Amino acid sequence: MKKDIHSRIIGIIAMAAACILLIVLSTLWRKKKTGQTEAKATGFSMGSVVTVTYYGEKKDAEEASAETLEMVRILDEELISWRSTGSELSRWNNEAASGEEVPVDEMLGEAVKKGLLLYEKSGGALDLTLRPVLDIWGIEEKTAEEFSVPSAEELAEAKKKCGMDAIKVSEKGISRSADVKLDLGAIGKGYALDVVYNQMNIGSAGIVSGGVVAVGGSVMVFGSKSDGSDFRIGIRDPEGLPDDILGYVTFPSGIRKMCISTSGGYEKYIEKDGVRYHHIIDPKTLYPADSGLRSVTVVCEDGLISDGLSTACFILGEEKAVKLLAEYSAEGIFIREDGSVFSTPGIEGQVVLQK
Ligand code: ADP
Ligand code: MG
Repeated sequence: MKKDIHSRIIGIIAMAAACILLIVLSTLWRKKKTGQTEAKATGFSMGSVVTVTYYGEKKDAEEASAETLEMVRILDEELISWRSTGSELSRWNNEAASGEEVPVDEMLGEAVKKGLLLYEKSGGALDLTLRPVLDIWGIEEKTAEEFSVPSAEELAEAKKKCGMDAIKVSEKGISRSADVKLDLGAIGKGYALDVVYNQMNIGSAGIVSGGVVAVGGSVMVFGSKSDGSDFRIGIRDPEGLPDDILGYVTFPSGIRKMCISTSGGYEKYIEKDGVRYHHIIDPKTLYPADSGLRSVTVVCEDGLISDGLSTACFILGEEKAVKLLAEYSAEGIFIREDGSVFSTPGIEGQVVLQK
């Protein structure tokens, strides 16, 4: 009898222990399934690789990253690409009669308005109507065999069809007083970051707790990483392979939103007779910019501005660029032709050089 009670007590204890073990295991399992995670997605839009990393609940982060890729693709194809025949920009390029204020999507109007201000503040270095001159060079389209250095006459002729002075943006729409066409290539990737941030309801109250979105040379960081560590954004070595970095810029976890854009002559170029011709053209000389810089990285909250400023600063050279950055309260990291690096005081403390 005594032995019977004993074995029943042992049985009950064993069952209780098994139950506790099951509860602990299932909690751990649920935590693993629903806990904070890192979701990555990669696509191709705007002629560049798009990479998205989101931190948050597994399902939310995965869905949001896929949605972000789709959003960038649609933004490009339906709104801002001059190449896509069905885009809002192409419609304007093809249809706007001289002086007519053509109503356009609010987002396109906003982007062109910011581009116009960049044109004015950069003294015309960033000119979103430069396409005819860019086409004459064809650095992004031609093979080395097809390429030849254009003549001064050809360039001067193309230049007649350029000039953002002819563009006006008002509440009623965008108008042109001469037959110029818009090409948002120098600001589009950065603008995509702003659109993603605003439309995806990401950020503090959003569906993910933080992330990194990169569209070509423009990168956005926001919120927090799952482990609370700093964000590190690499600065490419202009002389190295695409994966080689000179160092990185750190941003604290918990940051609201920050955009980092880089422009450099190493991105797309053609070599002819020992000379390197790259894709960023100085509207003053009509030749690839030659301002003593290998690359410029611009850091500010607005993605479009960071992208436009990096192109403009690369053309203007260090001295004028520093003044332009100050007008926008933006920071810059300049890699000079001799390999030395200069950072503006507001970002210097966040720059870590490795070479
Ligand atoms: P990427 O597109 O390589 O990331 P940028 O943001 O610096 O680099 O933009 C360069 C692109 O802008 C070029 O590929 C060209 O289409 C266009 N572009 C070149 N020079 C100018 C300029 N002076 N103003 C406006 N757009 C330009
Ligand atoms: Mg740019």
